[in-house]
This record gives sequence, structure tokens and C-alpha cells, in this order.
Amino acid sequence: MKHNFGAGPGILPQEVLKQSAAAVLDFNGTGLSILEISHRSPEFEAVMDEAVSLVKELLAVPDGYSVVFLQGGASLQFAMVPYNLLPQNKTAAYLETGVWANKAIKEAKIFGTPVVVATDKEENYIKIPKNYEVPEDASYLHITSNNTIYGTQLHSFPKTTAPLVCDMSSDIFSRTINVADFGLIYAGAQKNMGPAGATLVIVKNDLLGKAERPIPSMLNYQMHIDNGSMYNTPPVFAIYVSMLTLRWIKAKGGVAMIEKENEAKAKAIYAEIDRNPLFKGVCAEEDRSVMNVCFVMEKPELEKPFLKLAEERNLVGIKGHRSAGGFRASIYNALPIESIRALVEVMQEFAEKNK
Ligand code: PMP
Repeated sequence: MKHNFGAGPGILPQEVLKQSAAAVLDFNGTGLSILEISHRSPEFEAVMDEAVSLVKELLAVPDGYSVVFLQGGASLQFAMVPYNLLPQNKTAAYLETGVWANKAIKEAKIFGTPVVVATDKEENYIKIPKNYEVPEDASYLHITSNNTIYGTQLHSFPKTTAPLVCDMSSDIFSRTINVADFGLIYAGAQKNMGPAGATLVIVKNDLLGKAERPIPSMLNYQMHIDNGSMYNTPPVFAIYVSMLTLRWIKAKGGVAMIEKENEAKAKAIYAEIDRNPLFKGVCAEEDRSVMNVCFVMEKPELEKPFLKLAEERNLVGIKGHRSAGGFRASIYNALPIESIRALVEVMQEFAEKNK
């Protein structure tokens, strides 16, 4: 068995993979593959309906919000958000917490005036900036709840009068949130929800229709809402696998149960990093991510041999992002506690060998 610590596309539950594989050959006894059924068929409409209602149920989405499945990844949301929510002569506030936030800021410049309210760039994003002011006239405040590359996470969300727009690509469904605190939430599927190809957007309806510009249909939230995520052919398979993963979360007891497991998993790894003399954590302790655990070695020359041993022990995907270096263990929802134990054991074995 491989222990998949990959940052994304990330690990999916084994049973979801088995069900998905079976549906590729015969979807729900239709005699057709999930890959070849019409998106307008009642069978797929049922999948879409269930996926949307599971999102609403698992996150307790209140009335007045729409849930849509789109394409283009979280990266297209960097542009769709300002296209739909930021009028040309207006400002929007951005919390600059790394590469993904920067890509969002870059796109916002095309549509209006993004203002960076705070950054931790000087320290290579090892902390979440806390004290900052959001301009009163900002159309929204954009944040990245979990910074996949650096391993930082917002453990509480800013309280502002501006609607909060949040890139939750790498921690959606990993912890309970109060959707009413947000104006818009988006997430690429490929970490905690499903395969790449589907992007989830949850948007407060009354934020829409105010951008004062024509918006092409495929980039217009309202168009996708009005068409139940079927304005064009949706990514049928990615939505199906996401729906199965959401069912899996529900069967496990919902997001609150997953959150407990995630906290226990993260605690076990951070404890070993802090205890083991060969390793050290990268980020400010209070901002450590429960999803992406970044660490380095006290002696950088030991990093290669450690990676080699980890590979020999079937640990996959722990090399850090090219812009951060070191190691990154991504411990998404579907990663079992046994994989955490396997990583801890390898760290201990390595320390024993390199005393
Ligand atoms: N935001 C975050 C926080 C991410 O981790 C990623 C991808 N790793 C993205 C955005 C970009 O997502 P996509 O590849 O779906 O465009």
C-alpha cells in the first residue's frame, strides 16, 4: 500500500475509487459508462442534485446562497470573482498569503483595483498577517483559507463589513465553517472533494448583478446558477466522484467528525516534528495548517537520504513545493491515520540511523 501525501490532486477514499471504477464500466446498472451517459439524462441529473444537496447539508449552507459546479479550476475563480463582483472603478481588498493569493490579485487588476491589506512576503509566508485594515469601500475581502504551498492556515476568519471571498481549495470540508460569514467560497475539487476538473462555488445571491459590465456567459455566475450548473456540458465524471466523496464524508459522520480526525492526524505529525531533533517545522505555530504540514531538516544534507528512505517505505508525495523546498506532508481528509503513523515511524527510524 502506498501512503499518498501528495498536495493535489490528492488522496481519495479507497471505496470512492472502487465505486468510481465500477461506474466507468456500468453506471448504476444502466449498462452504460458514467463517461458516456448524457448529462441531461435523469440518472445524471440525480447525481448533480445529490452533489448540490450534499454540499448544502455538509456545510449547512443557509438560504440565499447558490451552489454550483464549474470548470477551469480555482485559477479561473481568480478572474471570475472580480469579473462578477468588482466594478471597474472600485477597490477590492486582498490578504496576500502566497502564490495563490498573488495569482488572484493579478487577475483582479484586470477588472478593478485590488488593494493588498497585508502580506508576510518578507518571511516567505510562514505567518498569517493578523492586524490590518480593510478599506471601507472595498467590494470584498479576498482570503486564502489554507496556503497549500507554505503550510499556513487561517484558524479564524476576519470580521469585516466587506463580504468575505475565500479560496478554500485545500481545506474545504476539512473543518466546520459558518457559510453565513462568507460572501463567496470557491474550491478546486482535487484535494478534499474529488478529481481535478470540477470547481465548487458557493455564492450569496445578493452579491451578484452589481459589477456593471457585460459578462460572457461561461464566466457569469448567474448564468450557471440559472442553469443548475448545466449551461454547457459539466465535467460529469468529476462531479460524480465528488458526489461519492461527499457521501463518504456524510457516512463518516459529517464535517465535524472529519475535523476531529484531521486535528488528531495533524497533532501526531507536528508532535514528531517538534520532538525529533533532526526535523523542524517551518511555519509560525499558531498558523500551522491542519492539511499541509511543512517541515525541513536541521541538516539540509540529510534531506535527500530521508526522502529516499521515505520512498522505500512507500511514502509518496512528501517533497516540498518547488518554491518552498523541504518537505510537505499533505494530510487531506481521505488520508488514514495509519499513513500518519507510517510517516512518524520513518522519521523515527531515520533519526535512529543518524544519531
Ligand atoms: N488555490 C489554492 C489554495 C491551491 O492550492 C491551488 C492548487 N494547488 C489553486 C488555488 C489552483 O487551483 P487549480 O489548479 O484548480 O486552478
